[in-house]
Amino acid sequence: ILACVILITNILYLWRIKVMGNMLTNRMLKLKTRPKGAVSSDNFELSEEQVPELKDGQILVKVLYLSFDPTQRGWLNDVKSYVPPVQIGEIMRASSVGQIIETKDDNFSIGDIVMGTFGWQEYAAVDSSFGLLPIQKLPEGIPHTSALSIYGITGLTAFFGMIDIGQPKEGDTVLVSGAAGATGSVAGQIARIHGAKNVIGIAGGSEKCDWVVKEAGFDSCIDYKNDDVASRLLELAPKGIDVYFDNVGGKILEIALSQIAQNARIVMCGGISSGYTTEALPPGPSTLTNLIIQRGRMEGFIVLDFAQRFGEAMIQLGTWVSEGKIVYQEDIAEGLENCPATLARLFEGKNFGKQLLKVADPD
Ligand code: NAP
Repeated sequence: ILACVILITNILYLWRIKVMGNMLTNRMLKLKTRPKGAVSSDNFELSEEQVPELKDGQILVKVLYLSFDPTQRGWLNDVKSYVPPVQIGEIMRASSVGQIIETKDDNFSIGDIVMGTFGWQEYAAVDSSFGLLPIQKLPEGIPHTSALSIYGITGLTAFFGMIDIGQPKEGDTVLVSGAAGATGSVAGQIARIHGAKNVIGIAGGSEKCDWVVKEAGFDSCIDYKNDDVASRLLELAPKGIDVYFDNVGGKILEIALSQIAQNARIVMCGGISSGYTTEALPPGPSTLTNLIIQRGRMEGFIVLDFAQRFGEAMIQLGTWVSEGKIVYQEDIAEGLENCPATLARLFEGKNFGKQLLKVADPD
């Protein structure tokens, strides 16, 4: 009897997939209006749609975790950038990790954990070239969240930004803003590994600064919300800064530029203090000409340009993590409907480490 019941259940299941599709309902957040300032839930519409039947070459991914990145706010502006803006009516773009629950692509199996740009939704029916980078299987043993933090865009940005652009040398003094954040915290630790002798962080609040020094091993940390940044920097780096890894832009960049050493390298990683809105910004740093006097170099970069070398960087980061030379932290929100508020946290300084959001558990 039991065998009959199992057989009938399986036949019904296959019949349902064949005749009615997989009947899964997908919840998603689509862009409704472009934000002017900070992002809000009013800018998005929560919709429900049935998951479509897979076409040949497609996979069906159950989204497990979403990555939250300041650049996503920039993707909402209708301007020319390094990737096209998210269009009104489109599902919000986001890096993510998911599990394959159905496949019509022989390169993937049911149960595989994959990384891709699946976006703010519960299920993605896509082919392997979908998104900013091709969909990839997660190597064995990597925790699902780490694929979006230390081995994800932020860890890789710290790696290439600090090593290739900043080029820290033995004995250097290195300054990192956004030092308690996902990118900044790793960038400072990499500078230390590369021989910097004085690694100074800048972060908002004493709790974050304590973590930067006690856990991430920076030599010191300036609390830009409570300290006088210019005078503290002069005390901590009397001979000037050799490398400045800039995550914030604005006033802090202006101060850092005023205190660079000869041949300093300024890594233009991000400018989060602008809010990445389309609102007009005040004129740029008044101290820019100090680059001439100090023969400095200031260089921007986009981490996606290093995609061919991501594998090499992940292996190196993994080695440093296992040797205890790099620590990192993750801040995990929950619930798809909370995506807009979770993105806003980055601009409010509420995140402590890599901001993620859990959508679902794996099967
Ligand atoms: P994160 O640092 O983990 O989080 C953002 C942090 O920015 C907040 O926690 C907050 O820290 C700080 N912040 C927010 N508003 C600020 C303001 N007005 N002034 C100063 N600090 C402010 O985020 P992340 O993902 O690692 O990104 C860090 C930076 O890297 C961003 O600028 C991002 O755009 C950039 N990035 C660039 C690339 C690239 O390819 N170039 C790739 C990835 C990321 P406090 O509480 O300390 O203020």
